[in-house]
Amino acid sequence: MALRASAEAGPLARLARGLLARAADALVPPSCFVCGAAVAEQGLLCAACFPRFRLIGPPHCHCCGIPFAHAGEAEEGGLCRVCLERPPAYDRARAAWLYDEASKPVLLAFKYGDRTDLAPALARAMARAGAGLLAEADLIVPVPLHRKRLIARRYNQAALLARALGRIAAKPVLPSLLRRTRATAPLADLSALARRRALAGAIAVTPRLLGRIAGARVLVVDDVLTSGATADACAEALLAAGAAGVDVLVAARTPAGRASPGLDGAGAAGEGDAHG
Ligand SMILES: [Zn+2]
Ligand SMILES: [Zn+2]
Repeated sequence: MALRASAEAGPLARLARGLLARAADALVPPSCFVCGAAVAEQGLLCAACFPRFRLIGPPHCHCCGIPFAHAGEAEEGGLCRVCLERPPAYDRARAAWLYDEASKPVLLAFKYGDRTDLAPALARAMARAGAGLLAEADLIVPVPLHRKRLIARRYNQAALLARALGRIAAKPVLPSLLRRTRATAPLADLSALARRRALAGAIAVTPRLLGRIAGARVLVVDDVLTSGATADACAEALLAAGAAGVDVLVAARTPAGRASPGLDGAGAAGEGDAHG
């Protein structure tokens, strides 16, 4: 009864929820999402943790987002050599941080350690790094997890980030738009070509949602980008289904580029997943 009354109340119920949220903030002081030290606002890093996280900003490849040591590293059109020679299916990939000794424990805790409470803070950093991509997106979709993995882990960390980004940008999120047609083995130790083979046809668009894609700019969201092979497979499926364009936004990316499978060791140290 109470539930129905509040649903009917509409604006009043929203006001009450807003007041309750603010009261909760006052009771639980905002804390750094890494170490728990007091900060000015929820979702921020404290002054000690902030410098340890390496933000990715220009200069970076205009396409895949890989950071350049200096602007002179850029090839024609602001691209890295790999994107110039073999462009990916997606238009742009952006990441908030480098995937390194600072960000890695946070992302592993988020993915495997039930720290789902980190989603809003991670999404906030992602929204800053990918502001342009987010503004242009018509739809936000997470990289899908295979059903078996979803059952084992109980949540898809990419879907939590997608939902949090949708709230920040007020954009529609379709968590089940993409699906895994089969489970893929961990990609970390495979060559670029073997990754492509392993992923071929493994990601597909959910047929009943096909109508949502035609002409849409889609933002694919994940926690970590390594070689980009998984993001590329998502983009290929979306473009084949009629998407106007696909961008990719992640919390962190490895410093290795798209076609450097030998350097792409991030996965071996904990990404027992089909990431690529
Ligand atoms: Zn801290
Ligand atoms: Zn590139």
